[in-house]
Amino acid sequence: MSLLRTRAAVTPLRRRFDDAVLPSVDALVAVERPEEPMHCLRPATIAAAAAGFVAGFPGETLYAVKCNPEPAVLRAVWEGGVQHFDCASAAEVALVRAMFPEAGIHFMHPVKARGAIRAAWGEHGVRDFVLDSAEELAKIRTETGAAATDGLGLFVRLALPKGTAMHDLSGKFGATPEAAAALLRAARPSAARLGLCFHVGSQMLDPLAWRQALALAGEVIREAGVAVDVIDVGGGFPVAYPGIEPPPLGAFFAEIEAGFEALALPGAVLWAEPGRALVAAGGSVVVQVQGRRGQELFVNDGVYGALSDAGAPGFTFPVRLIRPEGKPPATTEAGFVLFGPTCDSADRMAGPFWLPEDVSEGDWIELGQLGAYGACLRTAFNGFDRARLVEVRDRPMLEPAAAEVSLAA
Ligand SMILES: *Cc1c(COP(=O)(O)O)cnc(C)c1O
Repeated sequence: MSLLRTRAAVTPLRRRFDDAVLPSVDALVAVERPEEPMHCLRPATIAAAAAGFVAGFPGETLYAVKCNPEPAVLRAVWEGGVQHFDCASAAEVALVRAMFPEAGIHFMHPVKARGAIRAAWGEHGVRDFVLDSAEELAKIRTETGAAATDGLGLFVRLALPKGTAMHDLSGKFGATPEAAAALLRAARPSAARLGLCFHVGSQMLDPLAWRQALALAGEVIREAGVAVDVIDVGGGFPVAYPGIEPPPLGAFFAEIEAGFEALALPGAVLWAEPGRALVAAGGSVVVQVQGRRGQELFVNDGVYGALSDAGAPGFTFPVRLIRPEGKPPATTEAGFVLFGPTCDSADRMAGPFWLPEDVSEGDWIELGQLGAYGACLRTAFNGFDRARLVEVRDRPMLEPAAAEVSLAA
């Protein structure tokens, strides 16, 4: 018991300079010389990515809150024109409602706590709920007590065959095509709005994945023989990482629009639930080098902190050295492995991360594209959970792909 109690909850990111937006990461490092990881948010980048998605996607855009629930991020997404949020827990629902009384909130987790359904429906005005089983359908009906005239929205989550995404999202949730058709039929009488949704997997680089998923959705709807009001194509839209240059978002939107039109569903509309594509470029983390051993750097954040995806999932992130004073960094680069601060050998990020070859103890490194699935995955393991949050005006380390490019083509 007492041991359990000494295990602290993760320390929230401590804000520096309140809501001020500072000119640059370099200026900040020079003044602050931070010994703790520093999370740098670029609200303008996030707002622009959100606005680009909203403008290009042929339907409604919901932001997937789990990807980065930081209030400053939610505000930036809202500024960019996103007014709907995909939430998966009671806490996410309550957070979004507290910040945006007008927002549309959609409860997109297929296996929910009963109390979470009651609170969402009764206290927070949530009307749309996802399900992938008859049990969950019964649970939603009971806990909302809703009649179809109360505006209940029911969304059936369809599992997809395993694809080529870097994170598969059909291993855990989703009904088979046969089960999904039966669930659509069963849900129709109590649904003011009936939807079919899927997720092709996160960081999906192939636009055809959506085309194929939409074709499968069409088969399910034909088999069900009931009218469907919404096709929700989920998230999964990719961003650039070193060595990975995804097609522009417009290529994805074009496949989705064509795939949707081929279904010829009268009155139906499209929704999407992007996470990564809206916020990845708008966040970076500055770490400090605490030791060097050959081509290995010991830094103050790692896989139990904000750099989880650089561990087992093997992501590399764009990096740059920050050395505000002393000798200018070498102009030749070398590849480095990073170690995080915890005592676990798994706290290792293979990269390679390309940095000036003379990087040494005391230097700082900024890692980009960490606005998505960075801060939200931090833990308090080994006591290395203190980090700060600042807002900056810098350009992102990698520019988000332009949605317009292939729309114009
Ligand atoms: C995680 C998730 C998303 C967001 O996925 P990205 O790959 O970040 O776009 C959207 N919808 C659901 C149901 C999810 O679980």
